[in-house]
Amino acid sequence: MIFMDFFMCCTVSEIHRFRSHVVWVAAAKSVAPCKNGRMLKMRKSYGLWILVWMAVSLLGCVWVTQNEIEQQRNAFETDARIVHRLLSQRAVQHDAIMSTLALLQSSVDASRPEQRLSSVYPQILAVRRRDAGQQWEESQFARAAEQSRAVKRPVLADADFTNGRYWMVFSAAASYAMQIDMRGLAQWSEWPMQPESSPVRVTLESAGQRFVLQPGKGDAHGWRFDFSKHLAAESQPFDVVAVRHVGWAQLPWGWMLAWVGLVSLLLAGLLAAQRQRAARRRAEELLRLGQVARLNTLGELAAGMAHEVNQPLAAILANTQAAGRLLAEKPPDIETAREAMKHAVQQAQRAAEVVGRLRRSVELPDRAAQLQPVDLRAAVNNALYLLEPQLRQLGVTPELAEAASPIVHADPVAVEQIIHNLLMNAMQALERVPPGDRKLILALSAADGLGVFSVRDSGPGIAADVLPRIFEPFFTTREGGLGLGLSLCETLATRMNGTLTAANHAAGGAEFVLRLPMTGQA
Ligand code: ADP
Repeated sequence: MIFMDFFMCCTVSEIHRFRSHVVWVAAAKSVAPCKNGRMLKMRKSYGLWILVWMAVSLLGCVWVTQNEIEQQRNAFETDARIVHRLLSQRAVQHDAIMSTLALLQSSVDASRPEQRLSSVYPQILAVRRRDAGQQWEESQFARAAEQSRAVKRPVLADADFTNGRYWMVFSAAASYAMQIDMRGLAQWSEWPMQPESSPVRVTLESAGQRFVLQPGKGDAHGWRFDFSKHLAAESQPFDVVAVRHVGWAQLPWGWMLAWVGLVSLLLAGLLAAQRQRAARRRAEELLRLGQVARLNTLGELAAGMAHEVNQPLAAILANTQAAGRLLAEKPPDIETAREAMKHAVQQAQRAAEVVGRLRRSVELPDRAAQLQPVDLRAAVNNALYLLEPQLRQLGVTPELAEAASPIVHADPVAVEQIIHNLLMNAMQALERVPPGDRKLILALSAADGLGVFSVRDSGPGIAADVLPRIFEPFFTTREGGLGLGLSLCETLATRMNGTLTAANHAAGGAEFVLRLPMTGQA
């Protein structure tokens, strides 16, 4: 849940996140809130992260499972080979015992040592003997004796898989039959597995019959390992067959869980870092914009001061004109007029100098030199991205109707600053209406060679007496407001050969429209 929650809060990139916060509306349609569309986009980008998380987790789990299965298979094959070797050793031993018995019979040993074999080899259940010239009563023994004489080695006479016994016959001069206990073939002291609890099933098989040496455990679902090999003794033609099933329950679930946890942690860390980076970038961008704004505000301030100084200048000029009129009187007061003229001219020159110096020191850099193609939509996106936290806090989802994506000939920083200012003002206006009534409608279009961007809010609108003065420097109705934002925006727009206008919308709220020449139209 925590991770799901985390994924729901983070996105692939800040741009995605920002996009998910803006509702883009087809131009032909009327602008309408589209919360479902926004949710859909958000889910899409979150879904991508969840997909990555699932894919990496799944790949890891498959790898862990394959590794575990491979290890189990190797262990199984090693055990099966040891089992085959142990059983073969015993089988070969039987050949040797029978050959030895055949040699002993020539000494006509009255003590009949073969009868004592069972005490030494517990798997030998019985030994029977027919001296040279004597025939076996049992037809299978007689047949086996004949065969044994032909191949000159012991042969299998009879096998009883139900009871786990078989007879071998070896015929040289005398003939011996030896009964072997199949279970006794196994050397349990060296057996590589726990016979009662091991999941491996071991059987001796021949011609579709089988004797179970070790029952094995585990369900038949999942993975199956097989081993089958002839005993290494021709006289006992049995297959050693080992089978093991690895069920779902035996998969390394602990490791898989650990892997999924690790992947989740890593992705969560990655996303947290990404969010941090995005927040830092946003802060840096705001700082940059703030610095530019401060610089421009200074310029605006200077312009205001210049305006102030220009007024006394105008008065001085008026005085000189008055002096001129004095001279025109009959008789003219030449002396006074000359003094006044001299004085006024000196003051006027000094004031003009101050103004000139002030202007020169704060004059904005030549914007014309910085004009370049600017994607208005990208600039809007960028400004919205920067303001996303505040918009979220305000509970406002901007709706953007895009009839065109104009590329304007402008100063990118100035454009961003204007858009930023307009959005800030709109947000301030929206703060004054209840959350449910807050709407921010943006539109991009192109007309008459101009790229047009408009910001409309559902705030209280602009009072009739405020509207004519709204672009004046230092005009504000806001407590703590400087009243320089809009005047600066207008100045910047004008310098880029554009316009900025303000009006009240018929449906209520204020609407600001920025028009800038499109590339090639400047
Ligand atoms: P400030 O924001 O410091 O007041 P501005 O130049 O940005 O300076 O704005 C000047 C005035 O214009 C504001 O005080 C406010 O009265 C008015 N104004 C600006 N934008 C809006 C708007 N969207 N809705 C209503 N009034 C606005």
